[in-house]
Amino acid sequence: MDFALSEEQQAIFDMAHAFGQEHIAPHARAWEAQGTIPKDLWPRLAELGFGGLYVSEEAGGAGLSRLDATLVFEALSMACPSVAAFLSIHNMCAKMLDAYGSDDLKARWMPGVLSMETVLSYCLTEPGSGSDAAALKTRAEKTNEGWRLNGTKAFISGGGYSDAYVTMVRTGQDGPKGISTVIVPADAPGLSFGALEDKMGWRSQPTAQVQFDDCLTGLDNLVGEEGRGFSYAMGGLDGGRLNISACSLGAAQAGLDATLVYMRDRKAFGQSIDQFQALQFRLADMEIELQAARTFLRQAAWKLDTGAPDATKFCAMAKKFVTEAGSRVVDQCLQLHGGYGYLADYGIEKLVRDLRVHQILEGTNEIMRLIVARQMLAR
Ligand SMILES: Cc1cc2nc3c(=O)[nH]c(=O)nc-3n(C[C@H](O)[C@H](O)[C@H](O)COP(=O)(O)OP(=O)(O)OC[C@H]3O[C@@H](n4cnc5c(N)ncnc54)[C@H](O)[C@@H]3O)c2cc1C
Repeated sequence: MDFALSEEQQAIFDMAHAFGQEHIAPHARAWEAQGTIPKDLWPRLAELGFGGLYVSEEAGGAGLSRLDATLVFEALSMACPSVAAFLSIHNMCAKMLDAYGSDDLKARWMPGVLSMETVLSYCLTEPGSGSDAAALKTRAEKTNEGWRLNGTKAFISGGGYSDAYVTMVRTGQDGPKGISTVIVPADAPGLSFGALEDKMGWRSQPTAQVQFDDCLTGLDNLVGEEGRGFSYAMGGLDGGRLNISACSLGAAQAGLDATLVYMRDRKAFGQSIDQFQALQFRLADMEIELQAARTFLRQAAWKLDTGAPDATKFCAMAKKFVTEAGSRVVDQCLQLHGGYGYLADYGIEKLVRDLRVHQILEGTNEIMRLIVARQMLAR
């Protein structure tokens, strides 16, 4: 057993970190205020291979392992977790196309996806179904003109911003086996978007409802087989959960690093506040939590990479553990900054807001416990 990163893995982390510090961190607050991320960022990230991190090399992707990909998200989220998490959603969709799409579908979509001229959104949640995603109602009928979609998707990251929507739709019976996946281009007739959601965090990412009213997309935009869409959507989520965890980890590490610097400078009662043993113990606890989170996350990624039968359980456990540890750590960072932690200028309150949603999406942390408990009880 070797817990060290290889030289190549360290280089991947360093490259993502350097890009984030130079091209994302200086703008993160402005993008948050503007409520959008400039679209020209994505092709620049794609030049590093980040448009298809774990898309196979045969399909033109970077062919990285899941573990390698977590390093990219950990490093990028040290600059801004909202931007890093958005990239994760695109990559989750890209992998679905690579893993399940026909050669024809890949030939048409993959070049734009990999260069990130085509940014992808993932459309599963609906106003009436979130955790119980298999209850989704958006219907797609096969017609001579193509798939005709009717329904609404809720909370879609990149709604009204992305270039195409990887959408889970009902094409058959109730339940998971009646669900298929289709790609809907942004200019499809009958596609429209709700107003931008006003959110606690992830504010640089546009989030909106996606509305389909007799919306038409080509029959050749079906991903894989009819009736398999739910398993494709869930397959994508294992890796998505690792990435979201990595975003919590990197952002919390950045918060802790900034807190150490702040505590060295900040004086109270005649000494710098890092000299109070009560606070040193808190720092130690935060370090322990983050190191444990990192080890657990990488173990779960390794399980997914090696096709371990309990990989889904480990991805769920890691997602719950790491996202909660990340939020606890940034909350402590805010506390250790005193009143300044509450001010936007110090960057800590943004981390508290951004990380909170990681406990809710890609499956809530209650659903993570459900996955774990089900597997335990099934034995
Ligand atoms: C900022 C943001 C961005 C998002 N981006 C996307 C996106 O790009 N694409 C997409 O498809 N979705 C997206 N989502 C949706 C997200 O995945 C859902 O919000 C999430 O799955 C929870 O669904 P819900 O909000 O309907 O909550 P509900 O499912 O209604 O859950 C409400 C509460 O009940 C709990 N609960 C539900 N069922 C159980 C159970 N069986 N046992 C115990 N507790 C349970 C939940 O954990 C939660 O605490 C996004 C959400 C947010 C907030």
